[in-house]
Amino acid sequence: MTAKLAELEVTLRRCLKRGQLLLSPAQLAGYDTDGLSYKRFPPDAVAIPADADGLIALLQAADALGVPICLRGAGTSLSGGPVAVQGGLIIHTSRLRAIRQISRDGLWCEVECGVTLSQIDAALKPYGLFYPPDPSSGPVCTIGGNVASNSGGAHCFRYGVTSNYILGVEAVLLDGRVVRFGGPGGGRGPWSHDWKRLMIGSEGTLAAFTRFWLRLLPAPEKVWTFRAICPDLPTAERAIQALASDPVFPVAIELMDPRCVEMVENSPMAVGLPRDHFLLVTEIDGPAQLVDRRVDQVRKLLQEAGALGIAWSDDAQQRQGLWKARKVAGGLMGQLSADFVVQDAVIPKRYLADILQFVYDEADAAGIRVVNVFHAGDGNLHPNFLFDSRIPGQLEAVEAIGKRLMRRVVELGGTLSGEHGIGNDKSAYMPLVFGEATQKLQLAVPAVFDRASQLNPGKVFEGRVYHA
Ligand SMILES: Cc1cc2nc3c(=O)[nH]c(=O)nc-3n(C[C@H](O)[C@H](O)[C@H](O)COP(=O)(O)OP(=O)(O)OC[C@H]3O[C@@H](n4cnc5c(N)ncnc54)[C@H](O)[C@@H]3O)c2cc1C
Repeated sequence: MTAKLAELEVTLRRCLKRGQLLLSPAQLAGYDTDGLSYKRFPPDAVAIPADADGLIALLQAADALGVPICLRGAGTSLSGGPVAVQGGLIIHTSRLRAIRQISRDGLWCEVECGVTLSQIDAALKPYGLFYPPDPSSGPVCTIGGNVASNSGGAHCFRYGVTSNYILGVEAVLLDGRVVRFGGPGGGRGPWSHDWKRLMIGSEGTLAAFTRFWLRLLPAPEKVWTFRAICPDLPTAERAIQALASDPVFPVAIELMDPRCVEMVENSPMAVGLPRDHFLLVTEIDGPAQLVDRRVDQVRKLLQEAGALGIAWSDDAQQRQGLWKARKVAGGLMGQLSADFVVQDAVIPKRYLADILQFVYDEADAAGIRVVNVFHAGDGNLHPNFLFDSRIPGQLEAVEAIGKRLMRRVVELGGTLSGEHGIGNDKSAYMPLVFGEATQKLQLAVPAVFDRASQLNPGKVFEGRVYHA
């Protein structure tokens, strides 16, 4: 491998300019992990191409040399996606960040893969348009990472996840050929199968995405945000069910458990919530006349379910205040704990209380701190296990709980990922959901694009490893 690395360095230096190639341990330090920070996999090199041509040259060079390749956006994945589990080359896409075109009439825009969601939001605002998928990592995560993970977000309850908004994908295959599926017109192109759909959620295992055409919507005229507290889980569950099944049809239904509320209230970001209650945040949007009429119905649904302290507003600043506790929770975990794992599963909504109790019982029995904050309307469950991998036994306990949790989720009719993808974190659980024959078929798909599993090996399928 050392000879290969020396060759890789020479080849990469030919493809890249000064500052675009990172090789020293200090330079590589930030690239050995993603949001799943306790699992570290140092790459041998990181390349930061200036444009799509640079990216093509890099893929061709790494392909010819036979080194593993991993595409990386902002590295905010929570499932161990953009990490070099077999070493090799990480291609960081942060410089491919142009918004190339916005078509107000066509309701689409064309963007490069390294553009962040906040960048897209800001660019669309003057046009009165918006791109709905909104992972909480929006200020930093890239559209490339979103498409590769088929990301969700708070407002995906009504608007749908990333796959609903991708009209076209431009991708580079391992050998440098550029392929395009769909385009500004969307649809399926000249094929009877929707090939772009195959790309979405492929977690970097099929090709490197360079460009996308995104479907846009007119920005809602008016938004009302509601915040309520619930004294217990049955009340929270009733409120969620009532909101989700009423024609008032909120765009987002978010829940935080008392353990998470307490974490926020113990921090400098405290907002004054009672520490022993669940926090529910919901929102309605649309034409002013229509949504104004629905305000009372939302309030009534919350009240009838037993929710307390109901507050609501259509004022931008006050709405931010209502969202604040929910929005700061994610960032606090990283500050308060040496390590944390956010599990990501999706369950039929009616089992919410059942599965949360399971999480509490398991974590409490193992002495592991757990807080829950999640997109409850979608049935997305995100228990955050806070632990310290330096304390003997803690990591093993968290991993054992994760496995039992996933088994329970599958028993209840749910599945392994609501929005974060499988990465290397949950590849071992795939057999809980898919039988041997199905897994064989699934593995055959990346093999068509990349016979030797050189692109993002060790992800999604446990056995998908690269043999040079
Ligand atoms: C605080 C916080 C909150 C979060 N909230 C949410 C949420 O609400 N909803 C949600 O869905 N996720 C959430 N996430 C997870 C994460 O932000 C998303 O999965 C996001 O899409 C990752 O984008 P990224 O640019 O960081 O991609 P990365 O983490 O760099 O990569 C993710 C995957 O995409 C692949 N990839 C990246 N770029 C390309 C490319 N150009 N071509 C091919 N493959 C590529 C990588 O190989 C990897 O498999 C959150 C994460 C954090 C830290």
